[in-house]
Amino acid sequence: MKTVNPVKKTMIKNVIFDFDDTLFDHRHSSREGLRAVWKRYTCFHEMTLEELEAEHAEILEQIHFSHVLFGKMTIEEARAERFKFLFLDRGVEVDYNTAENAAQIYRMAYQKHRRRSEGAEEILKLFKKDYKIGIITNNLISEQEEKLEFLELKKYIDLMVTSEEARVPKPDPQIFNLILTKLKAKPDETVMIGDSWEHDIMGAHNAGMKCIWLNHNKLPCPDPAVALEIRTLKNPEYIRSLFSTAGFSK
Ligand SMILES: [Mg+2]
Repeated sequence: MKTVNPVKKTMIKNVIFDFDDTLFDHRHSSREGLRAVWKRYTCFHEMTLEELEAEHAEILEQIHFSHVLFGKMTIEEARAERFKFLFLDRGVEVDYNTAENAAQIYRMAYQKHRRRSEGAEEILKLFKKDYKIGIITNNLISEQEEKLEFLELKKYIDLMVTSEEARVPKPDPQIFNLILTKLKAKPDETVMIGDSWEHDIMGAHNAGMKCIWLNHNKLPCPDPAVALEIRTLKNPEYIRSLFSTAGFSK
């Protein structure tokens, strides 16, 4: 009688997280920052806070990636520039000082409301026992280091790689290869958990990692063969159980 060889399973040894909107609740901070700006300037009152959030996110993506990450602007200049555009979209032309004031109002409320994503500490605490833990993030080193300290998550993290250090942002394979090299990790023994399909999931998938998509907004999954899905970090035991799901470990 023939025996069938069991499917060879790869042991997962490393787990890499995205930072903003995965371990850190950026959306909450940003919403509170924008609420403060919305309250202060009447030109925004004809739109809802949700509409302002959507517009802000779009401008943030454009300016942050094209200017800050490539050193064309300081983060303060980019913040003021962002608000200049938000005013312009309301038909209001403002000078640099007004834009800078709005940016400061945003920043103060943003900082005040910083918090971890629900379940972030619990999952790190549990995973730290069995895996090497990394973070890959499209942001500045100083900004992310300070945030990690503030959120009291630093003790769980073996290594953080930023786009500033890698000189390229996610989803460029170079940033994923850099963290794998630094962690001495093999891609197929590594799981990436992140909220951005484009930056985290496709980037990690193309680097040969296993992927778990933190799909907060219940969006349709672009390709279920590429990543397993979760809605929250709140159930770390369940998330770990996904590591042995058929098709995930091979
Ligand atoms: Mg993110």
